[in-house]
Amino acid sequence: MIEITFVPTFAHWQRAAREALQQELAPEEIAWQELSSHTPSLPIFEESTDASTGASTSTKQFLVPKKFVELAKQIALHSDEQRWALLYRILWRLTHGEPKLLEIFVDANVALAHEMAKSVRHDIHKMRAFVRFREIKNEDGSWFVAWFEPQHHIVEQNAQFFVDRFASMRWSILTPERCAHWNGSELSFTSGLDKSHAPKDDAIEGLWLTYYKNIFNPARVKVHAMQAEMPKKYWKNLPETAVIPALLNEAPARVETMMKSSGDKIAQDNGDVWMRAPVPETASLSKVAAASKSCTACPLYKHATQTVFGEGPKHATVMMIGEQPGDYEDVAGKPFVGPAGKMLDRALEEAEFDRAEVYVTNAVKHFKWEPRGKRRIHQKPSARDIAACRPWLEAELRLVQPKVVVCLGSTAAQTVFGPAFRVTKQRGQLLESPLAKRVVATVHPSSLLRQPDEESREREYKLFVNDLRVALKAAR
Ligand code: SF4
Repeated sequence: MIEITFVPTFAHWQRAAREALQQELAPEEIAWQELSSHTPSLPIFEESTDASTGASTSTKQFLVPKKFVELAKQIALHSDEQRWALLYRILWRLTHGEPKLLEIFVDANVALAHEMAKSVRHDIHKMRAFVRFREIKNEDGSWFVAWFEPQHHIVEQNAQFFVDRFASMRWSILTPERCAHWNGSELSFTSGLDKSHAPKDDAIEGLWLTYYKNIFNPARVKVHAMQAEMPKKYWKNLPETAVIPALLNEAPARVETMMKSSGDKIAQDNGDVWMRAPVPETASLSKVAAASKSCTACPLYKHATQTVFGEGPKHATVMMIGEQPGDYEDVAGKPFVGPAGKMLDRALEEAEFDRAEVYVTNAVKHFKWEPRGKRRIHQKPSARDIAACRPWLEAELRLVQPKVVVCLGSTAAQTVFGPAFRVTKQRGQLLESPLAKRVVATVHPSSLLRQPDEESREREYKLFVNDLRVALKAAR
């Protein structure tokens, strides 16, 4: 029996196996012995070169089907040490008279190989689905840390998925065997740790719970399927398991609400549906706001963190309507808290508005965005997004009854006046619309931030303040 000691990765095994084939070593003659994966690479068999062996001129070529290489790469990640012997048995047979072996699914070796590959794929999928980051703050900012216990050696294989998904965060995924770290530009790996190194809970967990509650669709609940997809062994690391019982309890009532509004379909496309948002019949603004938190009337809720409803005094004199929440607002759950909101605050102060009299909201209540590198880039809401969300805005107007409405930007203005409205032509005028008696349209404060130079920014800012003064005068 010959012992082949090698670093247990596919590349090292492949090199060693190729050498064993060259030497015509039959499977039963080899004992495959793994070195620790943290030990430097010391394979017994090295790739032949003219210089090292002087025999490469007589090196035999072994051809194997491409799908064997793919299968072997997956099986290499399995936790069973016997996988290397299994792979070599299959390799031996493929190169010794059974080139079509992989097509014989009832063969014991082939069946076992597929079983192992399936188990690895399953583990990769589970890690992608059940890793939950928790935030740690230090003097350098935030670092997000997750704990996961994979069944197989999948951490390195899976890390790129998390880099792509969470490129803008700095994170670590800790596991008992291997830890992956992303510092915003570089991926690295260290040895495994025990669970005591993982943080327990934090604000990001609250954010995730809000997101989970929003994407939870009561009409599609299948408890058994849910348990099969989310096996109990993962529950201890998943914050959402704490809210599932309450969501299941609420499901029948929420389905009823959804069914009542099922006659209000606006559009359907590629499996997505746009309905008129189901606003409850109530005179309570806070109840309407609470109901909006579980709105799934259009597809925008799927990729946003949470509904961002309007905020301000119930009987505000002035209502400002923007387009939709941005990146900051989506995370904070509040309208106009990002850079555009700060610009609005400054202009309101300059126009001598009492900020406490102003209610701020948006035509669309969920953040619509597309990924670009590490950033979430704002996407303009479509006509059907606006139509679906309009009932929430109508309810805000009906319940707040502001004396004057200010439309910030063309989306808000077209929601109030119709698609033919042009802010560039009619800004700063006191107008009337079916939704509100006194309306002033102006630009969105974010457009001031996009001005190319200081001079045009200053000019546009003054025009913006003037438009706000028109609204203030009308309100008084
Ligand atoms: S954007 Fe409006 S209609 Fe669409 S899901 Fe969000 S709250 Fe509901």
